[in-house]
Amino acid sequence: MSASQPFSLAHAAPLAEPVETGSLWQALTRPKAPFAPLVGDVRADLAIVGGGFLGLSTALHGARAGLSVALLEARQPGFGASGRNTGFVVPSLKSSIGPAEAEAALGPVFAERLLRLVAGSGRTLFDLVAAERIECAAEQVGWLQPGHTAAAAETLRGRLPQLIAAGVDAAFLEREAMLAKTGLPSLHGGLEVRSGGLVNPLAYAHGLASAAQRAGAYLRGDSPVVRLAPSGGLWTVETPRGTVTAPRVVLATNAMAGWLVPGLRASIIPARVFQIATQVLADEWRQRVLPAGAPVADTRRHTFALRWSPDGRLVTGGMVAFVPGREAEARRSFARRLARFVPGLPPVRAEYTWTGVIAGTPDFLPRMTEIAPGLFGAIGCNGRGVALTTALGREIAALAAGTVEGGDFVLPITPPRPLPLARLAGIGPHFWLPWSNLRDDCDVRRAGR
Ligand SMILES: Cc1cc2nc3c(=O)[nH]c(=O)nc-3n(C[C@H](O)[C@H](O)[C@H](O)COP(=O)(O)OP(=O)(O)OC[C@H]3O[C@@H](n4cnc5c(N)ncnc54)[C@H](O)[C@@H]3O)c2cc1C
Repeated sequence: MSASQPFSLAHAAPLAEPVETGSLWQALTRPKAPFAPLVGDVRADLAIVGGGFLGLSTALHGARAGLSVALLEARQPGFGASGRNTGFVVPSLKSSIGPAEAEAALGPVFAERLLRLVAGSGRTLFDLVAAERIECAAEQVGWLQPGHTAAAAETLRGRLPQLIAAGVDAAFLEREAMLAKTGLPSLHGGLEVRSGGLVNPLAYAHGLASAAQRAGAYLRGDSPVVRLAPSGGLWTVETPRGTVTAPRVVLATNAMAGWLVPGLRASIIPARVFQIATQVLADEWRQRVLPAGAPVADTRRHTFALRWSPDGRLVTGGMVAFVPGREAEARRSFARRLARFVPGLPPVRAEYTWTGVIAGTPDFLPRMTEIAPGLFGAIGCNGRGVALTTALGREIAALAAGTVEGGDFVLPITPPRPLPLARLAGIGPHFWLPWSNLRDDCDVRRAGR
């Protein structure tokens, strides 16, 4: 796509919209006064499309760096994955991506930069929460990654020296020590990353939006961007009732932008993820399951993840193949999965069920793209975006402010890399999931023999 062509949503599919069932986070978060829509024409140094953690962190850090920043969100900040996730603060890439895999994909220089960013991302988030006094039930209680088999635990043990060298504050816990932290007997030893922890993600998104606004960023809600048009070194970002004109635009739309910029959307695999929160459980269970409070996410391809909510519920989830109309079945299947991991757990009800969409990439690594001169898109956090997008937003702001040159950026800045048959990519996870479940089960059965 050349810089002279506009990008338009006018004839494309509407925004992909997650099924809205009402999340636990909505129930636990004080409602925030909505940001008004953009009306009229605004000039800015930096226009940001999308008000999730990535857009909001970029806006906050851009404004702090002295840029005039205008952020446009189709709904309200936190509407996307940022307000719907599990709230794990994970200073780590996907479990299948250790330092060696990152280096093979990115080369030594970018792999080292990315690992350092990820390693510091827990600290970045908790420091920001403290500095901006964001009330989001933030707890830096660590994050646990046990192996689902002894062999997976050994892989994690082998990675530890490189992770520590990259700055990750981590230790290896033997199986007994992991059991003491999780109360989940089927899991093996693995990593404890001490700079990780938990947030209420929707409250964190609201807090970031307020912080960005306090820093001077101009935030507008209910302002879907429908067209991006270049002219004379500037981009005009169009919404139904107004425009922002800026020399630089960052698309922080994650998996939800529809086909506004086809090349960007075509470079990811969108995957819908289910979350359930149980009824409030008796205190006794609080002592028996995750007694140290740290969330857990194991090494399965289809990760088993579990946390306590601030009001005493267990929260878990994952993917479900071929979902539409099968929400009740999804709810039951995650309740069953939970019961398998927590022996003796009383029957659970999923009192809250909600979904969100993650943006996956084939190598499980995020991408920074320059779509046309001045038009950037960052995408592909692969379900590990709470801390990563917070830290990445700071780096993108530095790029926009000119304090970091393109070649020194944390990721290679490339044109979008559309996947073959991209319009069908959404069905990929439905085939990946049963295959992954089967392989995870085989791993465990084989190890048990
Ligand atoms: C169910 C679930 C659980 C997860 N759990 C975790 C976890 O525990 N830990 C972790 O690290 N990561 C987790 N993730 C991943 C994490 O939530 C994401 O990586 C992160 O929130 C992505 O942030 P973002 O700002 O890039 O995107 P989003 O939060 O998706 O924001 C994109 C925004 O762009 C807006 N938008 C789209 N198109 C337009 C347009 N044309 N005009 C204006 N606005 C537009 C959308 O409305 C949306 O608000 C999870 C994801 C899901 C879905």
